[in-house]
This record gives sequence, C-alpha cells and structure tokens, in this order.
Amino acid sequence: MAISRHLETIALHEGFSLDESRSRGVPVHRTSSYLFDSTEHAADLFALRKPGNIYTRIMNPTQDVLEKRVAALEGGAAGLAVASGTSAIFYSILNVCEQGDEIVSTINLYGGTFTMFNDILPGMGIKVRFARSMKPSDVEKQINEKTKLIFTEVIGNPVLDVADIKGLASVAKKYHLPLAVDSTFTTPYLFRPIEHGADIVVHSLTKWLGGHGAAIGGIVVDSGKFDWTDKRYRLFNEPDPSYHDIRYAHDLGENNNLAFIMRMRLVPLRNLGACISPDNAWIFLQGLETFILRMQRHCENAYEVARFLKKHKMVEWVRYPGLENDPSYPVASGQFKNGFGGMVVFGIKGGYEAGKKFIDNLRLVSHLANVGDTRTLAIHPASTTHSQLSPAQQLEGGITEDLIRLSVGIEHIDDICSDLQTALLACEGTC
Ligand SMILES: *Cc1c(COP(=O)(O)O)cnc(C)c1O
Repeated sequence: MAISRHLETIALHEGFSLDESRSRGVPVHRTSSYLFDSTEHAADLFALRKPGNIYTRIMNPTQDVLEKRVAALEGGAAGLAVASGTSAIFYSILNVCEQGDEIVSTINLYGGTFTMFNDILPGMGIKVRFARSMKPSDVEKQINEKTKLIFTEVIGNPVLDVADIKGLASVAKKYHLPLAVDSTFTTPYLFRPIEHGADIVVHSLTKWLGGHGAAIGGIVVDSGKFDWTDKRYRLFNEPDPSYHDIRYAHDLGENNNLAFIMRMRLVPLRNLGACISPDNAWIFLQGLETFILRMQRHCENAYEVARFLKKHKMVEWVRYPGLENDPSYPVASGQFKNGFGGMVVFGIKGGYEAGKKFIDNLRLVSHLANVGDTRTLAIHPASTTHSQLSPAQQLEGGITEDLIRLSVGIEHIDDICSDLQTALLACEGTC
C-alpha cells in the first residue's frame, strides 16, 4: 500500500469508516460470532469467495481496523493481530517452516524469543542457527539448503546493537529467503523495515505502539512482496487438506501476493488459536493514536538520559544508538528517521552489588521486566531476567554484572535524571 498520507494521520484514521451508529471512535465489537445471511452466504465465506466475518478467533471488526492501521503505518500490504508479540513471532515461523527446516537468526534477541528459538523450536524439529553477530556477512555464513527464513531484531538486546536491514535484505534476496524483522523497539516512526527490503515485520504491541503498559498483543505485517511460488516453500505450493486443498501461493486470485498473511490467519491462527481479544485490539488503537507524540518524547528523554549518564562519575560506560561515538551510531543514523528509540543501557561502577543497590534506591523509576511503557523502567538483568544463565552464557550474551537496562519514559526529564542521580549516589560506597 503506497503511503498517501502522513504517519500521524494514518495513526488516527486508517482502516475505519463510519458505520450507521456514526460513532467517531472505533467501536469495540465484543462478539464471538457473526450471523450469516443464508446458507449460500455462509458457504461463500468459508470458501473465501466473499470477504466477511465468521468467528472472532479468526477475525473481528475492531481487530480489522488495528490490522489495517499498522499495515499502513509500516507500508505493508496486510496485517494480522494476535494475542502477543511472542505468538506473532511463533506463528511467523510456523507459517513457513516444518520439521527438518531451519532458520537463521541474529543472537541478540529479546529473552522470550531466544528461548523459543533455542529451546522450543528445536524440539519441534525446526533448527535455529544463530549468527555470531548482527553483521550480514555473519548471518550469510549460517545459511544452507535447509534455511527457510532469516530473522532479526532491529535493535538487539542487551547492548542495543543495530542491524543493517538493507544489508540483511540483500543477503536474503541472494538466497531467495524471506527476511522477518522484529521492529518493536523502533516503531514505524523511526524505521519502516519494508522500505529497506524486509518481507515480514513483527511487533509486540505491548510496548511502544500500545505504550501504556495496559495490555499484551502482537501483530505481523506482510509486505506482500515475497514470491512464495518457489517450490521449496512446500506449505504454500502443495494443496492444504486442512483448508479446501488450497495452494496458498496460487489459488487466492488477486490476493496471491497475500499468501503469507492469509495462510497465517487460516492455519496457525485458526487452528492454534492465539487470537487477540476485541478489548485489547481496542486498547491498542487508543495507544496507536498518540504513539508518534510519545515516541518523540521517549527519544528526546532517552538521549538526555544517555548524556547525563555519560558524564556521571558512578557510570563506567553507556550504550545508546543515538550517541555519536556509539558503535551502533553509523548504522543507526543511516537508517533511522526521527530518533533512536527509548532504550538506554549502562554499566554501573561497583558491578553486581552496585547494580542491585541502584535498583533498590530508585523511587520514581519502576523496577520491572517490561519496556516501552509511558513510565521509566529499570532492571538489572544479571540478578533477574538473565540470572538463570551460567556466567559463561551471560558473558557470551553481553550481560555483564554491571549492566543496567533503562526504558526511558515520558515523564519530565529533570524528574527522571534526579531519580537516577539519587540512586547512583547511593551506590558510591560499593566501589
Ligand atoms: C516484548 C517483546 C516481545 C514479546 O512480546 P509480548 O507481547 O510480550 O509477547 C518480542 N520482541 C521484543 C523486541 C519485545 O520487546
């Protein structure tokens, strides 16, 4: 879909037309199912001859607006909203891969995604080969004849490395593989992966797009550009006995380019069932209306926090892709528009003990395991999210004992810095 309007306008209007109630806000449709006009109508819906609603596990009018809106924000062809960012990623892979297939992924992943790739998918016979770094050349080294998809996050955990999406897209093109990108940390306001050659974009709506820390949800956007008629993609080329013997890459008529997202709705979503609730779809629409205003403030505040920490005597090092001497800056500044995101990580002097003490002395900043909330959040991964890893695994993953992760919120910058200042000074005795 070509962008005919600006993102700010799309975020408020796309995908919704007034119904007979004339309600200006998007209504929440709390219904499980929808009346058929006749048996013929029902048969047409089931056979995909006519578009329409059947059952809320598969589609819902509130969810539909959310999908159209995020797809347009990403410059994609269509979207599918699901119960969480985690299921968005899981279904994207199940939609392409079967037992015996492989994917190649960068290794600096969100914790839940890493566990899915490292522990769950292999148990299902889908092997994940991790590239040593986010560099396209390191990703290319892991590709073989079994590879079916390349996966990366735009900004990786824990030290906020930034992937060169154009470079990864050209590797993907060379081997005719779809490139799937988790763009949660950047949102379409900073970065639109499809413009850089990505084929599939996933988001945890739970984070900045929803923004208020009020619900869990995820979405997948299909660029509509990948050619699924390649015979290696069996699931798109052989008749599907579970759905009228459809061959998704061939039998969808004018929707053949939407094979990926339509199959995801008709197979993983319909039969495995992680649908988004109508209420959560509605909550995310409220968040989306203002996500650009929030992102502007997240980016401004994160930059100020990074600069404040950089100068602080209790701080050993700071990583923020928007700092000019940051290792991520060259790639980030080349591809991001409008800012560098809301995440800042730093090393505190005094290591493990100081890290814990810092967290315990925060008053305004919330200590919890989330990112992308309107409020500033902090966590000490070595003593929490990553404490189950061995010291060797922690080191390999870049989780040093002194590392503090901040998701900078939209409070007044002076209040954020003053809370950080108090907590940093409380650690002075530990080093
Ligand atoms: C939170 C997050 C996820 C998982 O999303 P949920 O909505 O929590 O399931 C995936 N990727 C990234 C980058 C995230 O931040």
